[in-house]
Amino acid sequence: MSSCLFCRIINGEAPSEKVYEDDQVFAFKDIRPQAPVHLLVCPRLHIPTLNDVRPEQAPLLAHIFDVAQTLAAEFGIKERGYRTVFNVNPGAGQTVFHLHLHVIGGRQLSWPP
Ligand code: AMP
Ligand code: ZN
Repeated sequence: MSSCLFCRIINGEAPSEKVYEDDQVFAFKDIRPQAPVHLLVCPRLHIPTLNDVRPEQAPLLAHIFDVAQTLAAEFGIKERGYRTVFNVNPGAGQTVFHLHLHVIGGRQLSWPP
């Protein structure tokens, strides 16, 4: 999907501040961080939204959360606290239609957002 910004980032065709990659997942710093730590964990596979994830892809979702947990530790927010978010569709503020888990922390986060 050459028209997809995050596919281009994952393929190295657009710049990013990479923080992690493996054969399934690519993670980078959000360009407009909403907190001192704001990372995006994406599957390499182009999946537009959480609504498009099929049941057999559950291991991929589990891996995304596993990477989020590892990065939270690496970035020093694991114990104090952090938030993981999938925004799904425009009603929830999704602007990039390539699945990505936000990992946000490093300041006190209010709830509801
Ligand atoms: P969402 O609104 O959930 O679709 O999240 C998209 C996120 O991607 C936003 O937090 C943007 O700041 C972030 N973003 C957009 N373009 C880039 C980029 N080129 N590099 C890193 N993050 C980006
Ligand atoms: Zn994509």
